[in-house]
Amino acid sequence: MCRQVVELYAACRCLYYQQAVDRCPRYGRSGHGVQRMTVLVGYACSEHSRPISRPQFLIQSKL
Ligand SMILES: [Zn+2]
Ligand SMILES: [Zn+2]
Repeated sequence: MCRQVVELYAACRCLYYQQAVDRCPRYGRSGHGVQRMTVLVGYACSEHSRPISRPQFLIQSKL
């Protein structure tokens, strides 16, 4: 069975990295599918790792 590893962010399940299909000799036969293996990486993507509930503070620098 061919395999394809799909890596997802564990926190938000966004796509982290989709690897190429690891083909076996029966690739392309009828009724032969690709087994998808989902691997979770232990953090959130940059879009969802930002604090949402926390208010953003403006940092004013005195020059
Ligand atoms: Zn295969
Ligand atoms: Zn995300």
